[in-house]
This record gives sequence, structure tokens and C-alpha cells, in this order.
Amino acid sequence: MNYKIKLDKEKCIGCGSCAAVCPEVFKVGDDGKAEVLVEKVEKLGCAKTAEETCPAEAISVEPEK
Ligand code: SF4
Repeated sequence: MNYKIKLDKEKCIGCGSCAAVCPEVFKVGDDGKAEVLVEKVEKLGCAKTAEETCPAEAISVEPEK
């Protein structure tokens, strides 16, 4: 199963937690907001951890239909 990563930049406060727990999927860009480096992952892995860690609830990881 693939999972789609979504990021709501409006909500992101640029704390960097997602990039810290899951650097292969997220990074904080020059604008101080998180960026998604890969839009899909095959396993929840650290993307799920990032979703749970984000204090702004800006990340969602959902099964792809
Ligand atoms: S953890 Fe959430 S608020 Fe923090 S940089 Fe990542 S997306 Fe933005």
C-alpha cells in the first residue's frame, strides 16, 4: 500500500520537528516552512511519526486509493 503525504503550509509554524524525525520525507525550506521531498511512501514509517509529532497538525499521511 502506498501512502500519500500532504502538508498544509498555512498551518506549518516551521518548528522543524518533521524534518528532525523524518529527514528523507521532510525538510524545512528557505521560506521557513516545511517541504515534502517525496509525495508518496510505501510504508508509514517515520512519515507517520512526523504526522503525530507536528504541533500544528499540518501533516497528513493517508492511504492512497
Ligand atoms: S512539524 Fe509541522 S509545524 Fe513543524 S516544520 Fe513540520 S510541518 Fe511545520
